[in-house]
Amino acid sequence: MGTQQLDNQQLNIDYKVDHFFEEKIAYYKDQPSGECAQYIPELKNVNPNYLACALLLPDGKIHLHGDYEIPFTLQSISKVISFIAACMYKGPSYVLDWVDVEPTGDPFNSILRFELKDKQKPFNPMINAGALTVASLLPGTTPTEKIQGVVHLLSSLIDKNVTINKKVFESEWETAYRNRALANFLKEHNLLASSVEDTLFTYINLCSVEINVEDLAKIGLILSLDGFDPVRQIQIIPAPIVRLTKILMFTCGMYNSSGKFAAFIGLPAKSGVSGGILGAVPPSLRHHPLLSDGCGLGIYGPAIDENGNSIKGTRLLEDFIQVYDIKIF
Ligand code: GLN
Repeated sequence: MGTQQLDNQQLNIDYKVDHFFEEKIAYYKDQPSGECAQYIPELKNVNPNYLACALLLPDGKIHLHGDYEIPFTLQSISKVISFIAACMYKGPSYVLDWVDVEPTGDPFNSILRFELKDKQKPFNPMINAGALTVASLLPGTTPTEKIQGVVHLLSSLIDKNVTINKKVFESEWETAYRNRALANFLKEHNLLASSVEDTLFTYINLCSVEINVEDLAKIGLILSLDGFDPVRQIQIIPAPIVRLTKILMFTCGMYNSSGKFAAFIGLPAKSGVSGGILGAVPPSLRHHPLLSDGCGLGIYGPAIDENGNSIKGTRLLEDFIQVYDIKIF
C-alpha cells in the first residue's frame, strides 16, 4: 500500500472516531441528566449536563470532545494514584498486608463489614475503607508530605503541575461524617498507620486534586502500557505494580457496579463521584483499525447513578466499546 493510501486510511479512521464521539455527545447532551453527587456540597453545584471525553493513542494523537476544558476533581480516581504511590514507595507486599484485593458488592463508603467482624482488613484499595488505609501508609510523616508524594507522582504521569481545589476540599472536609466514622473504625482495629484526622486530611486533599479528561487519558495510556509513557519514552511505574492496579480496577474500580461494568464494558477503569472515569485499553487488540496499540481514555459527566458512577459517561463508554468492538478477553 502506498504512503498516500495509508495517510488517507488514517484520516478516515480519525474522521470516523471524531464523528462518533461528536454525535454521541450531542445525543446524550439532550437527554435528562440525573443529579451530581449530593453529599459533597461543592459538587452539587456543578452543571450536570457537562459531558466530555479524551482518547489518547500511543503515537501522541489525542481526540478531545465535548466539555473537555472543564476541570473536575479526582475524587475516587485518586485511589488509583495513591495505591500506586504506596506500592512504589513501600512495596506491594507491604501494602497488601494492610489491605485485601477482594471486591465487596457494598457501596464505596460502606461501614457494614467492620460492624460484622472484628479486625478485618479493608476489602480493597478502590473503596473508601481501603483507600483510607492506603492514605495512612503513604511515605512521609506529615499529611503534607504524604499528599506531596502522590501529587508528585501524578504530575510526573501527566507531565504538568496539578493543584488542589480548596473549595471542594473544605466542602468535603466539613461534611465527611461517614468517612470520619469509617476512619475511626479502621483506627479501632489498628488498620490505620496514622491518626484519624491526619488520614482524613490526606485522603480528602487527594480526592480534591483537579484534572481534566486529557489528564485522565494520559494516565490511562500509561496504565495500558504497563507503566511506560510512549510519548516521552520512559518507564514511570514498575510494570508489576501497574498490572496489579489494573486487576483491581477491573474487579473493584466501579464500586458495586464493578461486575456489570466488567461484563458489559470489560476494561480496567476507575470512577469518581465528580463524574470522571479513567479507562485503559491494553494493546492486545490485534489488527484493530484504531486501538491495536492500546489507548488511554478519560471521560467526564458529573451526573452520577446510585452507585456513584457517571451516568452519561458510562453510556458513552458502552457505546464506544460496542461500536469499536473492543474485547480484551
Ligand atoms: N471523596 C469521596 C468520598 O470519599 C470520593 C468517593 C468517590 O468518588 N466515590 O466520599
